Amino acid sequence: MKLTNPEHKAPVDAAQKKAVKPVICYPVDDLKQPDLAAYRAAREGWRKTGEVLVPPREARTFEVPAGHFFRIVSVESPQVGDLNLWAKANHAERFFSGKTRALHGTHLSTGDRMWSNLPYLRPMATITEDTLDWYGFDEFGGGVHDVIGTRCDPYTHHLLSGGDYHHCCHSNLTRAFATATGRSQREAEPFVHDVLNVFMCTGFTRDTGQYFMKATPVRPGDFIEFFAEIDLLGALSACPGGDCGAEHSSDASKCAPLLVEIYAPPAAPKGWAVPPVNGYLGIKDGFVPR
Ligand SMILES: [Zn+2]
Repeated sequence: MKLTNPEHKAPVDAAQKKAVKPVICYPVDDLKQPDLAAYRAAREGWRKTGEVLVPPREARTFEVPAGHFFRIVSVESPQVGDLNLWAKANHAERFFSGKTRALHGTHLSTGDRMWSNLPYLRPMATITEDTLDWYGFDEFGGGVHDVIGTRCDPYTHHLLSGGDYHHCCHSNLTRAFATATGRSQREAEPFVHDVLNVFMCTGFTRDTGQYFMKATPVRPGDFIEFFAEIDLLGALSACPGGDCGAEHSSDASKCAPLLVEIYAPPAAPKGWAVPPVNGYLGIKDGFVPR
C-alpha cells in the first residue's frame, strides 16, 4: 500500500505529472470480436446434455465440447463460485486471469472472453449472456465476475490467521481436478490457477487500493452463460464465503450449491471455427533474435 506520509518529497512538477491522461494498455478495437448474434442464434433448439450440482464448500468438474454452451446458475441463496478452465486435450493450457484482465478490464460480462495462458493465448470461452449485467459498477467501484482476485486458499489463510482450513476454493479445485484427471492432489495442485470469480462482487478501495468484497447481488435463477471455443474441462468451487458479504476461509458463512448446465446447439454458430493457438512462434530452441 502507498505510504500515508511519503518519505520522499514530490518534485515541483508533481501536479503536472499526475495530470497526464492515461492511455489504455491494450486497446481491443482491432481484436476480432465474437459474433454474439450468431452465437445466440445457435441456441435456438439447443438441448440440455448434462448438469452438475456443485455442493456448498466443494468443487466439481465438468466437460464442455467445443461449440457447446454452459451456464453457471444461482440456486437456493446467493453464492459465489470460483471457476477454472483447462483445454481438455492439454491441461497445460489453462485460463489466464491476468491477461484476460489486461484485455477486458477488472470484471467480465457479455462479449468478453476467457483467454488461455502463454504460449497458447486464444479464447477458451466467450460470455454469451450475463443476467447480472445491470449491476455495472457501484459507488465503491465494485462489480461482479472479477478477474482481480485469485481464489481463497489455505496458505494465505494460514499466513494471516495461523489456522488450517480445508475447504478453500484452491483446495476444493485441487481435489476436484485430481479426481477428474487421475492425478494425486500434489500433482494436481500446480494446475489450479487464478479464477473467474463468478457472481462475486469486488473492487479496489479508492483510498488505499485494497481488494474488497461485498455481498453479491445474485439471486436464485441468475446465470452467466459461456460458449466453449475449445474442448473444455472446467472446475467450479462453491466458495466457503457464501455470498462473500462477511468472511471466507471458514464455515461461518451461509453457503448454497451452484448449478452447471451444459447445452448442445443443433449446429455450430454460423462462421465459427475452433480458434487456433497463438501465431507467435519466436520462442524456440536455438533462436536468437537480432
Ligand atoms: Zn473461495
